[in-house]
Amino acid sequence: MLFFDWNIHNNLWGVIMKSTGIVRGLDKMGRIVLPMEIRKLLHLIDDKSYVEFYTEADSVILKKYVPACIFCDSADDTIEYCGMKICKNCLSKMNAMLTSQEEATGK
Ligand SMILES: [Zn+2]
Repeated sequence: MLFFDWNIHNNLWGVIMKSTGIVRGLDKMGRIVLPMEIRKLLHLIDDKSYVEFYTEADSVILKKYVPACIFCDSADDTIEYCGMKICKNCLSKMNAMLTSQEEATGK
């Protein structure tokens, strides 16, 4: 199963999730172990990382929880856009960059 979403890094619609082919069973308490390959891929550090649960139709989606700005790692004064956190400081810098580019190109 593929999921499409807006990729903020390259401003393209793209595949952000794909099947890993890994199947795990739940234990009696409903727990699963995240496969090591996925933990390494997402840089999930045992005992220090968090994941968020989402549901979509018959799917459960786990997403690495990143409470801080995706650009500067600040957790202060963030807003969420397309599922990612951006601090207002970085947003201001991006806005200033966009404004100067528009002025330079006359748009
Ligand atoms: Zn930031």
